[in-house]
Amino acid sequence: PKLVYDFAEGNKDMKQLLGGKGANLAEMTNLGLPVPPGFTITADACRVYLETGAVPAELADEIDKHVDLLQQRMGKKLGQADDPLLVSVRSGAAVSMPGMMETVLNVGLNDDSVNGLAHQSGNPRFAWDAYRRLIQMFGKTVLGMEGDVFEDAIDKAKQDKGTSNDLDLDADDLKALVETFKRAVHDHTGREFPQDPRTQMDLATEAVFRSWNSDRAILYRRQERIPTDLGTAVNICSMVFGNLGMDSGTGVAFTRDPSTGQPGVYGDYLQNAQGEDVVAGIRNTVPLADLEQIDKTSYDDLMEIMATLEGHYRDLCDIEFTIERGKLWMLQTRVGKRTAAAAFRIATSLVDEGVIDTDEALKRVKGAQLAQLMFPRFDADAEKDLITKAIGASPGAASGKVVFTSAAAVEAADRGEKVILVRRETNPDDLHGMIAAQGILTSRGGKTSHAAVVARGMGKTCVCGAEDLDVNVAQGTITLNGAANGMILEAGELISIDGTTGEVFRGEVPVVPSPVVQYFEGTLAPDAGDELVASVHRLMTHADEVRRLGVRTNADTADDAARARRFGAEGIGLCRTEHMFLGERRESVERLILADTDADLEAALAELEPLQRGDFLELLGAMDGLPVTIRLIDPPLHEFLPSMEELAVKVAVARERGEDPGRDAALLAAVQRLHEQNPMLGLRGVRLGLVVPGLFAMQVRAIASAAKELRAKGKDPRPEVMIPLVGAVQELHLARDEVERVLAEVGVDREIPIGTMIELPRAAVIADQIAEAADFFSFGTNDLTQTTWGFSRDDVESAFFSRYLEKGIFAVSPFESIDREGVGALVRTGVDRGRATKPDLKLGICGEHGGDPDSIHFFHDVGLDYVSCSPFRIPVARLEAGRAAL
Ligand code: ADP
Ligand code: MG
Ligand code: MG
Repeated sequence: PKLVYDFAEGNKDMKQLLGGKGANLAEMTNLGLPVPPGFTITADACRVYLETGAVPAELADEIDKHVDLLQQRMGKKLGQADDPLLVSVRSGAAVSMPGMMETVLNVGLNDDSVNGLAHQSGNPRFAWDAYRRLIQMFGKTVLGMEGDVFEDAIDKAKQDKGTSNDLDLDADDLKALVETFKRAVHDHTGREFPQDPRTQMDLATEAVFRSWNSDRAILYRRQERIPTDLGTAVNICSMVFGNLGMDSGTGVAFTRDPSTGQPGVYGDYLQNAQGEDVVAGIRNTVPLADLEQIDKTSYDDLMEIMATLEGHYRDLCDIEFTIERGKLWMLQTRVGKRTAAAAFRIATSLVDEGVIDTDEALKRVKGAQLAQLMFPRFDADAEKDLITKAIGASPGAASGKVVFTSAAAVEAADRGEKVILVRRETNPDDLHGMIAAQGILTSRGGKTSHAAVVARGMGKTCVCGAEDLDVNVAQGTITLNGAANGMILEAGELISIDGTTGEVFRGEVPVVPSPVVQYFEGTLAPDAGDELVASVHRLMTHADEVRRLGVRTNADTADDAARARRFGAEGIGLCRTEHMFLGERRESVERLILADTDADLEAALAELEPLQRGDFLELLGAMDGLPVTIRLIDPPLHEFLPSMEELAVKVAVARERGEDPGRDAALLAAVQRLHEQNPMLGLRGVRLGLVVPGLFAMQVRAIASAAKELRAKGKDPRPEVMIPLVGAVQELHLARDEVERVLAEVGVDREIPIGTMIELPRAAVIADQIAEAADFFSFGTNDLTQTTWGFSRDDVESAFFSRYLEKGIFAVSPFESIDREGVGALVRTGVDRGRATKPDLKLGICGEHGGDPDSIHFFHDVGLDYVSCSPFRIPVARLEAGRAAL
């Protein structure tokens, strides 16, 4: 296959092959935008390199041809002594991984051509600076040298010169630095810095390929669930220079505000600077709007191009550009990352602007983003100790203890502590710490700094550019300049950061519900003037219109049921009755378990029944008119008894003292009798109902009589009885007979459906038989995952799941997102076989997967009727059910 594509040969849909950067450079080239000419080496070539350790044999020839073409076009050659062609060697995978991989600029410079560049540009300082940057980037990226070697040398040069500003180093200083750098390269590798431009280019290309598997790239991919085998393309792009003087510069721009979605001019610009300087936050940038004063022509060009790009991509674009002596060049664009709030606002704005339709708008927002918008905010009325106000780079409200290093953040998080990672600026090595922290605070950089971009991508709260804060990592202090005269914060102190306003507070600030939650609660009207709420309302309404899946909630109390209902739940998919046996009722349960005679047993059950009826009255009342699936008692009985160790000690102590342990002795005997090696696989669910006479009957009587009472009051209760943990149809027949007998006894005038959970592989496999005795199925995917994998969730998650994730055995815990191939296949089997017996069998799912976006799409695809999830996930489930239907 073809391994190299000229920018003019590609287009935006070729991301898999050319990477996002290459595909979009091609697209811009073909749109006639000013892109410096170049070509892209495909991700196929990278994959070969990563698999075999060598680039494909044909690659060299193909590159030769494209280099020739480029040289002709540019009218100069790589390494040409009097006027060299310089190129950048840039990474770019199909999926954007900001700052994760490597790029080498100024490739083509050597001891000869640096003089040519100096002469050509009339700016020797610039030429030597470009050369020292090449050796520095090459040393770090290609040769694997420590960055400190170079940075220390620069610091020393500045010290010798008595300055702290890079710009004060003149051509001679930089020339001397180049010598120092070259010596460092020689010391490190035992070889000279390669003078041949083509060698530089090939080595840099291979280094970019290798950077696909750098530790930080691997970590980032795991975090973002990006497949590990895509590989990266490499873009060879002729250099343009933003560092030729004050009439040059480099910047980043967004076609809309990526944190709010508002239209306008957003970005950062830095005069007399090259590429990375902006993102690295080395010097402070100016807002893009200032470019209008600095260079009106380039500014106008840029505005026009931004409009073109937005019109073309029909979405927010982010852009990297460089101005070389008053001429604008486009170096990168892509559909830009954005905050959750911006995603909703942009989607509905684009509908209003007639750019996309509402289906498309719904596709462009995600349940995970909606979940983010439901996080609490700082309480506006709370007393706050404001330390400083900087740039709100990634929204949210976060409090935690100050830590200064990523290692400290990770350690603290492992101890269960909440921390805020405070840095001067972050770099890709901080990823671990950023993941571990509640939020990130930096003293340098703007909305496009590394910290800001990565935090937005992760949905982490971030405040950056807090210049009032003097962050001294070595000393472990933050000194506050200006206002509060030198106040000092140390590691471990609590601070709070507001990623929307950019405010930083001392201490922990209390939080209040977000406006989006207030909207779902019904306390904030969609037309009350909050534009975000209005956008959310429109897209939720559309999701409800298009979705086929019903959305129910898992709720055991009337409060939860009522909240879920406000959030849009269309019933209860799972009410667990276990909690109804806890608290003060424990004693009755103990009596039940200790009962020696039928009379004792009946007495104990009789005590529990009115209590259960009371619970159901409330729950059915809260869900009046909507289905309420009540699962009969599931867990093993001993879970309701005191711990065996404690009891044994108590009894032993009593005996020691010559006292009568009394009731405790009987309890202990019961606990010992009921003790199970594997309670998860023991006497629970339907087994319990069939073994303890009267238990299920009592629960069903409570349900039926509660329903009857409500009916008498003119209400519309709709209970459904669900039998857990069925593995054989005989079990269900027996349980069902008993349920039906009780229902007939109580005499309810409306049919109460009787169904079962499918949570054992056997049940899924014989679902055709089980369907004969069931009016509905509800897939209990938590237990089904445990029983399919043979995992005991409580034991495996903390014990070794992190290592399984690291080893790539799965990309996400099967308890978090449904394992489609295994557990999912059983669900599909259960659906198909169940419906084969009973075409109108009602099918739902009530595991935690019911609130997980990926899983919801799966449940839609297999044809379930509804998902059931926790009350707070209801809006997410509604939205994703809508998206799944498109
Ligand atoms: P990233 O994927 O990290 O954004 P890039 O390949 O875009 O890496 O390059 C890093 C920096 O170098 C960017 O600021 C980019 O604009 C700049 N850059 C890349 N190629 C060139 C070039 N040919 N001329 C000038 N600047 C460049
Ligand atoms: Mg870039
Ligand atoms: Mg279960």
